[in-house]
Amino acid sequence: MKLELHWKIIIGLVLGLIYGVFAAANGWGGFTTNWIAPFGIIFINLLKLIAVPLVLSSLITGVASLSDLKKLSRIGGKTITIYIATTAISVTIGLVSVNLLKPGDTVPENMKVKLQNTYQSAASGKMEAADQVKERRPLQPVVDMVPSNFFSSASNNRNMLQVVFVAILMGIALIQIPKEKARPVLDFMEGINDLVIKLVDNIMLMAPMGVFALIADTITSVAGDNLSNVLELLSALGFYMMAVIIGLVIQMLFTYTAVLKIFSKMSLKKFYKGIAPAQLLAFSTSSSGATLPVTMERCEDELGVSEEVSSFVLPLGATINMDGTALYQAVAAVFIAQTLGMDLTLGAQLTIVLTAVLASIGTAAVPGAGIIMLIIILEAIGVPSAGIALILGVDRILDMMRTVTNVTGDASVAVAVASTEGQISE
Ligand code: ASP
Repeated sequence: MKLELHWKIIIGLVLGLIYGVFAAANGWGGFTTNWIAPFGIIFINLLKLIAVPLVLSSLITGVASLSDLKKLSRIGGKTITIYIATTAISVTIGLVSVNLLKPGDTVPENMKVKLQNTYQSAASGKMEAADQVKERRPLQPVVDMVPSNFFSSASNNRNMLQVVFVAILMGIALIQIPKEKARPVLDFMEGINDLVIKLVDNIMLMAPMGVFALIADTITSVAGDNLSNVLELLSALGFYMMAVIIGLVIQMLFTYTAVLKIFSKMSLKKFYKGIAPAQLLAFSTSSSGATLPVTMERCEDELGVSEEVSSFVLPLGATINMDGTALYQAVAAVFIAQTLGMDLTLGAQLTIVLTAVLASIGTAAVPGAGIIMLIIILEAIGVPSAGIALILGVDRILDMMRTVTNVTGDASVAVAVASTEGQISE
């Protein structure tokens, strides 16, 4: 019997976990970094390599195949409304979870001092990065979406929104020029699209090995060669992690189930079976950007979402819809305040809802981006941003989990939008 892809990836993940723990216990950090980690980097690079051509070719052909532009703005409006609503719900779930569990009250006094000393320098690096974000003007995110040179946008995966913008512009113009002129361009783009989808299939053959290497390397970088450090961290921050994880699980179980039930007829079994490989990749790479090609392929091939919807909804979602990140930011902000003995008023908690929704939109789809935007939330509610030193030690682990939620959220909205547009095939 042929093993399904997600099982192969799970096997890679579990073996990576076992190897990683062994390596940390036996001091094999150097060997892992030199001989195992590179396979993970190769795998992530291959995925990133195809993201720009995939978004460009599928979005241009998707938009150009639309009969009228009203439809495009309708799909756009729906997508953004559901994205923002689910993110706001996610933040609220996070706030309820952290206020009920009160994880900040459980950190031992000596551990607070130790954490702050250990992660002080790493924290100040993140604070500098946040300063750069803060100095921007209010309309800067909109300005940033419009590139002055397409090749420079296409040269950096962080500029995915610019690529989306250019692709939409080109798709619209292709509708407006004579058919015989548009045809060759569209045929070419359709060819590129098929080619890239095949590349995704081929790259995924390497997924079990890539995931093994990524997980082994992550454990090495979190644990170093001293496993007892991790255990100490996990016990001090266990409640905080639980508050985040419980929130993420509730968001997946309730919010996404509701989105699927309200807007589509898809069974949860079909949905989760279809996107499991994307979720596993999100977990192993901690990057919704790197996972994007697989999310798109699974939504189209397994869930039946039309290319027109998936090529618009998913790249947009990978860049702006981060429910897991927003939830984590809310829990982390309150946890830090609790640990520092500060009481947050209702006003401050409402500020968190607003800033976390905005901050998650501005968070890049790469590992560790969420904690940089967290600093901006902390400053908005008057909590010292150096407090992130308290949570840095376990941030990578939570990053893996919140990225799974981010990707699941994007896929559920793609199914919802496609269903309401009658663009889902059995
Ligand atoms: N790693 C997350 C993502 O790519 C972003 C973050 O929360 O750091 O979706």
